Amino acid sequence: MRCDFKGCPNDAVSRVVEIRDRAVLRHDRAICAHHSDLLWQSYASDSRKGLGKMFELAGATPFELELLMADYQGGLGKALVRQVGGQQLVHFPIAYVGASILYQSVLGSPYNQFTIHAVLKKVVEGFGGELSHVLINRINSEGYFEATTVFLKEDQLSEVRILPSDGLALAIMTGLPFMVSDDVAIRSHEISRVKL
Ligand SMILES: [Zn+2]
Repeated sequence: MRCDFKGCPNDAVSRVVEIRDRAVLRHDRAICAHHSDLLWQSYASDSRKGLGKMFELAGATPFELELLMADYQGGLGKALVRQVGGQQLVHFPIAYVGASILYQSVLGSPYNQFTIHAVLKKVVEGFGGELSHVLINRINSEGYFEATTVFLKEDQLSEVRILPSDGLALAIMTGLPFMVSDDVAIRSHEISRVKL
């Protein structure tokens, strides 16, 4: 498959989707390694403020998905999120299937009501709880993010561990804030230089 950039003779290596405020800005394109790098660099150097709803939580800030890159060869792709009302960027690795689920969640496909995320929401509500937000709150010893889904039951906050990409899809599908702890947002910049 050829790169979708006009006149580019290279083979496509990744599939990219650009998103703003939880809606598709530009539908998926297949692009080559060179154009993937250029697109990534253009996002990394773009200092505009992120769109989205604010949410108050001590020690954390809301972020929104802006760019999905999925690897056609089965390697890890990338998801890039931008701070709501700010310029900070955070990214994390994402498998092809995770990127596809995220894309579907943004499209708001009816398929979503049967996914594990929608099921989790129903289970929590079935037990009398209410989902509050998704929080990336830790970077593990291998440099990968860890996330939790936070829900409220009888005035008590409880947490369920979730993959960051699943947590982001859950947030998008169910209208929850997607939060990144300030510690992780700061540390992710050190890590982003060495680990994509
Ligand atoms: Zn190209």
